[in-house]
Amino acid sequence: MFNLILFGPPGSGKGTQSSNLINTFGLKHLSTGDLLRDEISRETRLGLEAKKFMDAGQLVPDAVVIGMIGSKLDENPQARGFIFDGFPRTTAQAEALDNLLQLKGTNIHMLISLEVPEEELKQRLLLRGAVSGRSDDNEEVIANRIVEYRAKTEPVSNYYEAQGKLERIKGVGEVEEIFGAIKGKIESFILPQ
Ligand code: ADP
Repeated sequence: MFNLILFGPPGSGKGTQSSNLINTFGLKHLSTGDLLRDEISRETRLGLEAKKFMDAGQLVPDAVVIGMIGSKLDENPQARGFIFDGFPRTTAQAEALDNLLQLKGTNIHMLISLEVPEEELKQRLLLRGAVSGRSDDNEEVIANRIVEYRAKTEPVSNYYEAQGKLERIKGVGEVEEIFGAIKGKIESFILPQ
């Protein structure tokens, strides 16, 4: 198994690069943002609760997202590996993920951090809001999401750096070029399918 965390601020390109990686390496994509939006569209209790936080640009409580990831790991015992996208977003989530994977006899192999300057992030998110109509891509909510990211999520990279698993990649440039850089980092762990 090969388990990768794709890490970076909102708008850094995690979703785009995840789809490239799934196709090339046959990994299972677990995006907590997508899972939460799916709960919202099905109007589940979890979705209705999560929506309040998401619409304000705040993080959804740890227990909610940890529970969701735990179920998805159980549902995919045959996976070649997982790409975690948008998770873990707090150090508590990182510790919980380590425990969940340990119970399955595996672990996180690498965290790839996509580095993008703040001004570029804001522009990308505003553009995405205009195109996709995502309700959390407006100026005020974007500002909150970046504040949450700096305060609660950035420390997650230190957690994995201490384990020697952090790789930084420049997230500005052509999508293909960035994908090439990511591939270069992971090819010693897993071959394309
Ligand atoms: P982006 O990467 O563009 O910020 P996501 O789709 O990953 O967007 O997340 C959208 C929102 O969903 C976040 O702002 C947050 O409210 C919620 N969310 C997603 N993943 C998590 C998580 N792991 N922990 C807490 N909240 C989360």
